[in-house]
Amino acid sequence: MSGKIVVIGSFNMDMIVTAEHIPKPGETVVGGKFASALGGKGANQAIAAARAGGKVAFVARVGNDPFATEGIRSFKQNSIDTDHVIRDSSASSGVALIMVDKLGENLIAVAPGANDILSPDDINAASELISSSEIMIIQLEIQPDTVDIACKVAYDCGVKVLLNPAPARELNTKLLHNISIITPNETEAQRLTGIAVEDETSADAAATALRSLGVDTVIITLGARGAYISDKSFRGVVPGFKVNPIDTTAAGDVFNGALAVALVEGLPLTEAARFANAAAAISTTRPGAQPSVPYRHEIDAVLGDD
Ligand code: ADP
Repeated sequence: MSGKIVVIGSFNMDMIVTAEHIPKPGETVVGGKFASALGGKGANQAIAAARAGGKVAFVARVGNDPFATEGIRSFKQNSIDTDHVIRDSSASSGVALIMVDKLGENLIAVAPGANDILSPDDINAASELISSSEIMIIQLEIQPDTVDIACKVAYDCGVKVLLNPAPARELNTKLLHNISIITPNETEAQRLTGIAVEDETSADAAATALRSLGVDTVIITLGARGAYISDKSFRGVVPGFKVNPIDTTAAGDVFNGALAVALVEGLPLTEAARFANAAAAISTTRPGAQPSVPYRHEIDAVLGDD
């Protein structure tokens, strides 16, 4: 077992203006504050897995622009293998333009840019990397065809596939057959199954529906309550950690990255979910996406205190 984690997915630069109020069409609001932050679910999950102690490689397309330079610098700082992060002059890096008002309401426009042209050929070019990994993490901020082929390549060579089905969209049954672990949040679970996840009974029904489509392990993340787990040996909630959250951005991403690390280290599923809950809980106590991602010693400290 190589112990390697390959993450396939998106990279975005988030550009955030916090203003008195969100402008209406044609209106200009001045006096706001600006911040930029590295984001994109793929990049967040790669960073989360690396900081949790994983040996991580990232497969993505980025533009040939300063955003990409900053992103790649951050991946390298986190010891992530970037051999398959392709710089593409034909598109900009993915960008999310975010406006936030003083009540925390937001308005977001995303230009996926290079994320949209990560192609099945790019996946084939990374097939050796994928086949030499122990687990592949993938999300839905890249083209459906690319997701399909990546999951097939991994499945065909016996690599575990962890699909975080976010943002929500319908998935074909063929794809689900290639997935070992699926990790929707409550909204995504409802979108995939038509079952509103409101309590343990409905979470179990949604998880059972997904397992009947061919996924071995279903983990529905439940925000502060933790995660509902269903596989052949366990069905139930692994409780979350009590914290004072200030910003839950990227909590799901941190959960997925940390979960992969714990599974590669051989923890049983419930223990792996506990590790992921701890990592994600820490991230909710800090602002932003990637800056909020905890390091291994911080996760171990929370687990040790519990
Ligand atoms: P997403 O961020 O994708 O919507 P969730 O809201 O379900 O997903 O959060 C993912 C994970 O983050 C949860 O399973 C839990 O471990 C952790 N988490 C989220 N919100 C909180 C919170 N308020 N307190 C503690 N942990 C949290």
